[in-house]
Amino acid sequence: MAKIIFEKDSLSNYSRRFAKNMSKLMQIKPNSVVFISYQLAFPGENGEAEVVEIVDDKEPMVFIHGLSGLPEAFEANLLNLKVNDTFDFTISAEDAYGNVDPNAVISLPKNIFQVDGQNPDDILQVGNFIPMTDDQGNRMQGMVVSVGPENVMMDFNHPLAEKDLMFNGTVLKIREATADELAHGHVHGDGGVEH
Ligand SMILES: [Zn+2]
Repeated sequence: MAKIIFEKDSLSNYSRRFAKNMSKLMQIKPNSVVFISYQLAFPGENGEAEVVEIVDDKEPMVFIHGLSGLPEAFEANLLNLKVNDTFDFTISAEDAYGNVDPNAVISLPKNIFQVDGQNPDDILQVGNFIPMTDDQGNRMQGMVVSVGPENVMMDFNHPLAEKDLMFNGTVLKIREATADELAHGHVHGDGGVEH
């Protein structure tokens, strides 16, 4: 009688294939941890898009769907996509970061930027983004618009305000968020917070 042996190797191949197929079947849902590569562009005046950001698959963007803090319209466009699916959509400024608010451009006394009694001139440069906090403890980024002798003009509008955003990219990986990740509101491990 022929000797019958157990093909261990093909079994593990089989389960590997199975796991791979399962992850291919997963779709992006609320609370999915999503890995994407993408390109962000602004629509140009002459019909040519102006590429402003490229995130490649070596350092993908990672977020929890529904907790990303990104515009809802962005997350909505990714819903139900699977691994290797591509996307290509535009969201209008109103659905993204809104319109520029002229009241968010504010003149601040220069001395509030002092560190150890000195004005940090390397920080107060036009175009620099400076982390600030308001009197309610909200954190915000302000861009230096101009620097005068006594005052600094700062713009607290989102840098993407007033912009239509064109995204195209690829879904690289999808997994379920862990209970810890949902409690913390951010991704742990690969591409996320390490703690
Ligand atoms: Zn955490």
